[in-house]
Amino acid sequence: MMDFKKQIKTKFIFVTGGVVSSLGKGLASASIGALLESRGLSITLQKLDPYINVDPGTMSPFQHGEVYVTDDGAETDLDLGHYERFTGAKLTRRNNFTTGQVYDSIITKERRGDYLGYTVQVVPHVTDEIKSKVLAIANNVDIAIIEIGGTVGDIESLPFLEAIRQLRFDLGKENVIYVHLTLLPYIATAHEIKTKPTQHSVNKLREIGIQPDILLCRSDRPLTAELKGKIGLFCNVEKDAVISAEDVKCIYEVPLVFHREGLDEKIIKLLNIWTRAPKLEQWEDIAKKINSPKNEVTIGIVGKYVNRQDSYKSLHEALIHGGLANSCRVNLQYIDSEEVEKKGAQTLLKNVDGVLIPGGFGSRGVEGKISSIKYVRENKIPFFGICLGMQVAVIELTRDVCGLKNANSTEFDPETPEPVIDIMEEQRGVNSKGGTMRLGAYPCSVKKGTKAHSVYGAVDISERHRHRYEVNNRYRDELEKAGVEWSGLSPDGSLVEIMEYRHHPWFVACQFHPEFKSRPMAPHPLFRGFIKSVLAHKTQGLKKLKQKKKPGKK
Ligand code: GLN
Repeated sequence: MMDFKKQIKTKFIFVTGGVVSSLGKGLASASIGALLESRGLSITLQKLDPYINVDPGTMSPFQHGEVYVTDDGAETDLDLGHYERFTGAKLTRRNNFTTGQVYDSIITKERRGDYLGYTVQVVPHVTDEIKSKVLAIANNVDIAIIEIGGTVGDIESLPFLEAIRQLRFDLGKENVIYVHLTLLPYIATAHEIKTKPTQHSVNKLREIGIQPDILLCRSDRPLTAELKGKIGLFCNVEKDAVISAEDVKCIYEVPLVFHREGLDEKIIKLLNIWTRAPKLEQWEDIAKKINSPKNEVTIGIVGKYVNRQDSYKSLHEALIHGGLANSCRVNLQYIDSEEVEKKGAQTLLKNVDGVLIPGGFGSRGVEGKISSIKYVRENKIPFFGICLGMQVAVIELTRDVCGLKNANSTEFDPETPEPVIDIMEEQRGVNSKGGTMRLGAYPCSVKKGTKAHSVYGAVDISERHRHRYEVNNRYRDELEKAGVEWSGLSPDGSLVEIMEYRHHPWFVACQFHPEFKSRPMAPHPLFRGFIKSVLAHKTQGLKKLKQKKKPGKK
């Protein structure tokens, strides 16, 4: 058994969830982080996932939602996206781990002989491994917020809960607190908010030896003082630690709601720390901008995972940020690319002001994406392509503008005579699917005088990648002659990172995923520029419509 009773400067907040999943533990953890940072504390966040996959990289977005990528190339849970958008914490592969990773390390150690003589068991070996991975991120920060995936009561999360129970014992009461996020359903027939599921969930936690210090109570209406008292009494929690987490219109209001409920004050009291008062002006400013936009645009997102919108979480947020930068509400219309194949781009895209084609894998729906691009290119509708979105844009231009009708990606047609998108040399013969793509941050040189340069205002940038295929350099000259501008390249010039089409008001696409780096306080330049052009396109369209109407009025 390892000794964890060491002196660590960092204090820990463990966030668990009860009753049902999808209550927003990730957002709650991120908002706690934002509040503590606003008080001048340094923080970090970590997500513990109880499933057995080593990382979510091999799971379908339909199953797991978006795979978020960090600078160091880790394929992580989408909650890390919330953490990075809400806080200044710099996250790496150590900020997310799974049961799969825990067992992987333990089995490697066992084979090496590290446990020689011992029977390897869940307690203490698995719990020790979990504790080491948690403590490993506590370098020089005041507070570490650790979110436990899953719902209390799941078989899978038990070792995680046992490990965090032990940590309070190891590190002391003033250094560890437990926050439990729960649901309080309103039952219309009884005209009442019901507390029983929360009582059961807290009981379940207490059975394992964890007494929550704070309850975050999700409900569609505020909790009365009386109800807070009742919950406190039944759950053994102080009344002022029962926080009403009422539904909000926009996620960026969550830190403000928590603050009004006294959450940050309670946390610092329990952890016995002194801080300045929180500075929340920036959050107030964002909430105000989102709730009172001056303009409105509708973006069509043509993709494959349209029924599972968590698959495009960061993209969705980055578009909202692009709107924030232009005082504009951004409505999103998800369009199934297979539907485009059946009904045509003109029918499905007629009500949108701009079109975005996001990342994706596999050939399903690709032709629908290509015909959407042809439609927006010919009708000069602002277009933004990301990763696969850029690859299909290049295929479309090669086919239609260069006249190479059979152009394709070898991902969709390995035998294509015109492989304008092809697998990278290093990827040939890679059979193992987990963690083997071009992943994480890579530098890019932006060409002066291009649209990309006008929005970035910089030549040297760095963006995050997650793909195997690239533009085939053999076709670069021909496409350039046809009007393509290679506006961003890897510093050695060998890889295309950003492209644009000259004969169009906004046809910009990139091989990387800019959505991972957009923040509400710092909207990403490409999203800012895209929404700006969408807004201009819409305003122009409206003007034309007015001019047309005028003669009819006479
Ligand atoms: N499937 C493409 C590739 O692997 C694009 C990946 C993506 O859009 N993230 O290159």
